[in-house]
Amino acid sequence: MKPSPWDQPAPEPARAERPNVAGMDLADLRRLMGAMGESPFRAAQIHQGLYRQRWTTWDAFTSLSKDLRTRLEAGTELSWPELVDSAGSEDGATKHAFRLRDGALIEGVHMPYPNRTTLCLSSQVGCAMGCTFCATGLMGIKRNLTAAEIAGQVVAMLNLHGHAALDPINIVFMGMGEPLHNLDHVMQAFGLMTDPKGLGIAPRRITLSTSGLVSGIQRLGSYARRPRLALSLNATTDAYRSSIMPVNNVWNLDALAAALKAFPVEKGERITLEYVLLKGVTDSLDDARRLAAFARGFPSKVNLIPFNPHEGSGFEPPTEARITELCGFLAGRGLTVSVRRSRGQDVAGACGQLVRERP
Ligand code: SAH
Ligand code: SF4
Repeated sequence: MKPSPWDQPAPEPARAERPNVAGMDLADLRRLMGAMGESPFRAAQIHQGLYRQRWTTWDAFTSLSKDLRTRLEAGTELSWPELVDSAGSEDGATKHAFRLRDGALIEGVHMPYPNRTTLCLSSQVGCAMGCTFCATGLMGIKRNLTAAEIAGQVVAMLNLHGHAALDPINIVFMGMGEPLHNLDHVMQAFGLMTDPKGLGIAPRRITLSTSGLVSGIQRLGSYARRPRLALSLNATTDAYRSSIMPVNNVWNLDALAAALKAFPVEKGERITLEYVLLKGVTDSLDDARRLAAFARGFPSKVNLIPFNPHEGSGFEPPTEARITELCGFLAGRGLTVSVRRSRGQDVAGACGQLVRERP
């Protein structure tokens, strides 16, 4: 496999002095209870409190003895990301800022729909991929998020907005960061989110979006239980893709196509191809023709994303007429195509607008 600048892992956060119970799975909790001389049953109770009830302070765990709660309080942390700022958009989406233990800020977006809720999560503080059209890319990489910091965005958003038990939750890793550059923690968070005894989110409702880290796509494909895959294609020639997405210099369109063809999709599963439409640059009919050819190589669906403008990007969104034309063109070639009406645009919570610096 080719070496790439992204073989180098992103920095990890400083370790806490006391173990953080938030983010522990049942096996971790059993070990903790064993070390504290408690029965495994306590581990199951704590697990349920953390992920079913989504309790965030030890006071809430009234099924545990006062003595155990006091010892947990003294010997562990119960630290989820702290929700510090929320901005509602006219379309019902809310962009949230979370402060992490070390003061780093990340963002997540809550998007309610009539029959489901979609949560857009960050996987890193910043991003190392350097895509030129993306606000997060411009800030560079600060560090990876831990599993607790990833799953904690879900806990915090569900606690704030509430959640009807029968209302399915979709998770998309489309906030800050490249999830395949932090796959270990993302998969650990995936385990927490899909544990039927915990948050209980259906694996097929979790989608990981990548800019095209082929080594990571191959690793993802090796997991028996894994999120679904979305690829940010965004351009249809190597020359142009390389100019806006540095990752294309390492893995070009042919390498991507080969990795996606080899990706072990389940029955009925399709790989999403995200395609950001940049006016006058990636929105021509020739692009659409090449996009259609690329998409035919494996089970796929196409998601067109009109560019969300942000200051200094130098790109513009396409016209509505062009979006309609491209959509019709691709559908006419037998592709499944949708247009992402980015939610939260008026509060800069839409794709590629998520950027937070340390205050
Ligand atoms: N790093 C991952 C996931 C986060 S970005 C990835 O790149 O796939 C999520 C999506 O937002 C990607 O498809 C990306 O191409 C898109 N995006 C980034 N900046 C954007 C912008 N300004 N307008 C519209 N979409 C953007
Ligand atoms: Fe990173 Fe995705 Fe933005 Fe590229 S588009 S810089 S991979 S967050």
